[in-house]
Formats: sequence, structure tokens, C-alpha cells
Amino acid sequence: MSPQPAVVLRRGDSGPAVADVCDRLIVTGDLASSWADRTAPRDTAVFDDEVERAVKSFQQRRGLIVDGVVGRSTYSVLDGARWSLGDRVLRFVPDHFLEGDDVGRLQARLVELGFTLGKVDGIHGPATDTALRSFQAAVGLTSDGILGPETLRAFDALRRSVTGGSANALREREHIRRGGFSLTGRTVVLDPGHGGSDPGVIGHGLVEAELALDLARRIEGRLTAHGVEVVFTRTGTSGGEEVDRAAFANSLDADLVLSIHSDHSAATAAHGVATFFYGHGDPGRQSPGAWSTIGEHFAELLLREVVARTGLIDCRSHPRTWPLLRRTRMPAVRLDVGYLSHPHDAEVLSDPQTRDRIAEGVVVALQRLYLGDADTARTGVLKLADLRRHIERARATGELGAPPPVMPRVAPPGTD
Ligand SMILES: [Zn+2]
Repeated sequence: MSPQPAVVLRRGDSGPAVADVCDRLIVTGDLASSWADRTAPRDTAVFDDEVERAVKSFQQRRGLIVDGVVGRSTYSVLDGARWSLGDRVLRFVPDHFLEGDDVGRLQARLVELGFTLGKVDGIHGPATDTALRSFQAAVGLTSDGILGPETLRAFDALRRSVTGGSANALREREHIRRGGFSLTGRTVVLDPGHGGSDPGVIGHGLVEAELALDLARRIEGRLTAHGVEVVFTRTGTSGGEEVDRAAFANSLDADLVLSIHSDHSAATAAHGVATFFYGHGDPGRQSPGAWSTIGEHFAELLLREVVARTGLIDCRSHPRTWPLLRRTRMPAVRLDVGYLSHPHDAEVLSDPQTRDRIAEGVVVALQRLYLGDADTARTGVLKLADLRRHIERARATGELGAPPPVMPRVAPPGTD
């Protein structure tokens, strides 16, 4: 770091410190380079009207108080303006935070990728350090908090493939990329709700825990036929807390978790099907909060397929922070299929053929998720065979191209 001026510089001052400030104002483009030619001996450099105008121009651009005076804050921003990202190695120095435009660029990129660090202020404080380490962990680098060539390359590589999103989305994209467009070789965790001593809701002769398990088994059969490894969070007789089910899915490093429930309402008119994904806050770029973009996408695909196949009312997709959705490190979606308190819903769900159609809807939704461009085959009742043909056709015409390159493997994050 350059020494900071001990005194405030303002119009009328002169000497080498003024020349130093003017050098930086020339670099930032606020002062004409011809100014330096006119002040050959640095000792005699004068803070004149032209310099004051340049200082004000710089202050205005940088959101500083526009007073034309070079105090501590203006000097520190001016000093940092000479650094571009990559000019020096950035790291957190506890007693002397690095400052500069390069730090600001680093912060902006971290924010763009959804890492939380407070504000982009060009000061490499503890929050920036934490965000940088989280980024490194997310892309499989040593989480040392040092922005050197390796981490810079990771940023550049990501810039070509990821814009916006969140840390969570970054991990989720990696999960999708890993296996290309195929279901084969993926691990899907099916979580039939409740179980054990907890039957869930009961209505019109249906027990939620039993229905969920039955649906899960039908889904399992179809997914297994597609080469998917299916793992259940519970057996016929066991139950378990959501946090334990989430930990179990994490321990498998599964590609996706689908939790299956039904609803019940004292309001007997309530009926329909809804899906839930992890999220809270504003999904917009300004304040991303936390939002599973892949989860949301799958929740919508799943809802559409199930509604189209069952005729159940569409109760939409919703962001929630339930433990199973929040604590899982892979996309997790919960399907609430029908209200057991509603006679029509219960009748529909009692039919084994409807249950088979729901299971097929799950598989098609998954296939669409990994296909990556759901909207090119929009119908809600596409058969699996149709979808396979669609994929083959897209591959043949080059519409799909080769699967995208595999990203560095995502390391498990520490705490969220
Ligand atoms: Zn339930």
C-alpha cells in the first residue's frame, strides 16, 4: 500500500504529495496528462483549480462527497483505482484490509454468483474473505482465501458458463452437468413422507404415509428401468425426521431428492396438487436471498406433468425453507399430491392407474430437467418414448450438441 497523506490536501497546497495525487488522477482519466508536463519538478506541484475540478470529477464518479478536497477517504479510493483484478494477489489481511478497484471487482463477481458479502465497497474485509473461500470450496479449489492465478482462472471459466444465480445454483448446475442429458447413472433419493409411528394425514380411507410409499415404489420401478439408482429415505416400517433424511441424501451425494406427501385440510373444499422448492427472499438479481433455481424449475416441470396426467387442480409451486429442502445440498422438491380430506382427490388417488400416471409424470419431469430445454417439447402428457425420440432428434440435428464440459467437482459446503 502507498502511504496515505498525513494531511488533507486542498486547493492552494503544493509539494510532492500533490504530484502523487495528480499522478493517480491522470491514471483515472480525471486529469489531463498534459498537467504533469507543466509541473516538472514534483516539489513545486500546485493543487490548482484544474486539480480541484479533477478531484471533484473523481469524487462524483465514485459516490464520494464532492468537495474537491483529498482527505483520507478520497485518497484511499484514489489509491485503489490503479488496481485491476489480477494485478496483485488478493487476500484477507486482518490488521490492514487491502483496498482497491480489484477488490471491488472481486466482490462484484462474488455477488453475481450469489455469495453474500454485505456490500461491494472495495475493501477486503472478513465477509469478502468468507465469500471468496466459499467460492473456492464450491468449485473444488483449496479454500485458502487467496485470489491467485488458479482462482482467477476459475472465475474466468465460470464467466463463460454461469451468469448470475447463487452459490446454491452453482452447486446445482454442477449436479446437472455431471451426467449430461441422461438419467442413466444418476442417484435419486425418494422420500416418502412420514412413516413409522407417524401415518401423516388420513382421509377417505387413504393414509398419507402408505400412499407416499406406494407412489415412491411405482416411481422407483420406472427410474430403475432408466438406469437411475433409487434410494429411499425410509422403508415400509421406519420413519425419521426431515433433518436426518436430508443428511442421508447428502451422505449419498445424490443428484436430486423428491419428497412425496399429500395434504389434508379442515376446509373440505381444499384440493389439488402443489410442489415446493427451497427459497426465500427475492429471486431477482438485486437481492437473491436464497433460491434454488433448479429446484424451482423441477418443481414446475413436476407440477405440470402431474396435473396434466391426473386432472387434479393446479395449486402451483412455492418456495419454502422446510428442513428437507433447506438442508439438502442437491436440488430437492416436495410434491404434495392431492388433499385426502377432499372426496374427489381421494377418489383419483385411490386408482392404481392414476398412481402409475403420477409415477410416469415424475420420470418425464426428471427427463425434461436433464434435457435442459423443457420448452421445446411443451405438452404436458408427453410419453417417455416421445421424449426419447425428441432427445435423439435434437442430438441428431445438433440442437442439443454434446453435453457441456464437466465443471470441477463441487466440494461439500461447510455451513449454509
Ligand atoms: Zn405429509
